[in-house]
Amino acid sequence: MRAAVFFKPGKVELDTIQEPVLEDGDIKIKVDLCGVCGSDIKTYVRGTPYTIPPAVLGHEVVGTVVETRSPKWQEGDRVAVAHYIPCGVCSRCLDGKGTLCPELFDRRIDPGGFAEKMRIPRDLAERATFKIRDDVSFKQVVLAEPLACCIHAVKQLSISPKSNVLVIGDGPMGLLHTQAAKAFGAGKVLLSGMTPHRLQRAKQLADYLIDANTEDVVSKVKDLTGGDGPNHIIVAVPYLEAAQQALDMVCPGGEVLLFGGFPKNQSLSLDPNKIHYDEVKLLGTVGSLPEEFHLALTLLESGKVDADLFITHRYSLDKVAYALERGTKQEGIKAIVDLSASEGTAEEL
Ligand SMILES: [Zn+2]
Ligand SMILES: [Zn+2]
Repeated sequence: MRAAVFFKPGKVELDTIQEPVLEDGDIKIKVDLCGVCGSDIKTYVRGTPYTIPPAVLGHEVVGTVVETRSPKWQEGDRVAVAHYIPCGVCSRCLDGKGTLCPELFDRRIDPGGFAEKMRIPRDLAERATFKIRDDVSFKQVVLAEPLACCIHAVKQLSISPKSNVLVIGDGPMGLLHTQAAKAFGAGKVLLSGMTPHRLQRAKQLADYLIDANTEDVVSKVKDLTGGDGPNHIIVAVPYLEAAQQALDMVCPGGEVLLFGGFPKNQSLSLDPNKIHYDEVKLLGTVGSLPEEFHLALTLLESGKVDADLFITHRYSLDKVAYALERGTKQEGIKAIVDLSASEGTAEEL
């Protein structure tokens, strides 16, 4: 079968690879769409210790079951697939901290989503694969995985209809956070960013936008929140200055959540009295759980989160390297690889 293979940083090429073979309980899907994730772009640029080339990237997958050795699934079922799952029985899982399960990545999709077909191992097929509603297109739900990660984050915050949320960062995850915060009942959502074309799109997503190129974020945010600062701040960029700024801006009793990963060996300085006297909470999250993936799918199916506002580019499988390359330049917002697109497709939607 055809796949876009990652050979080394900077090199992804269309190649022919062996089709995966199923074991008992597994299913095989034909990949219909696969989102291009920031982590795919990162791996493409500099590699990661977890991805040993040659490998197939892509994990935001929706597709159709074409072969099944699982009693749960039938040929023709349309599914969205989470690409990892907690074991469910270790001490962290039993404490409700499944994203910290040491076995989280032990059951993997095989290979990644930038391939014509994919094997979904038994545990994932049983507990982390979800049926897509018949009247819903693949495109409407292809953002389930990244949205699930945002849901995992906003669930840690005590968002209420009274509270305002500031999202720092206008990348795809920042923009999705605005919708996750709204779905969880936030009264007002502010977004600050530095990419003009993304802020333009964000007009339909956030209640207030702050262009950090031209506006002083701290004073603007103070103004917009009645002088008190936001109740909840989600830092969806990998910059220490943004985390610092969030701690300075958050209102007493508020919460700062670090969503993006930071470069290694950084340190954040903070005034401990912020935590003590102001009762500010500093939180962080990573990944998502199957139930959050399911909730994300439901929000997308119902149209509460409209994928069309995010997906700006569509590529064919032979254009994956180009899609990743363009991702490094922050072009558009979210790109998808469409396995049914004719060769050479690279279009703006
Ligand atoms: Zn992703
Ligand atoms: Zn576990």
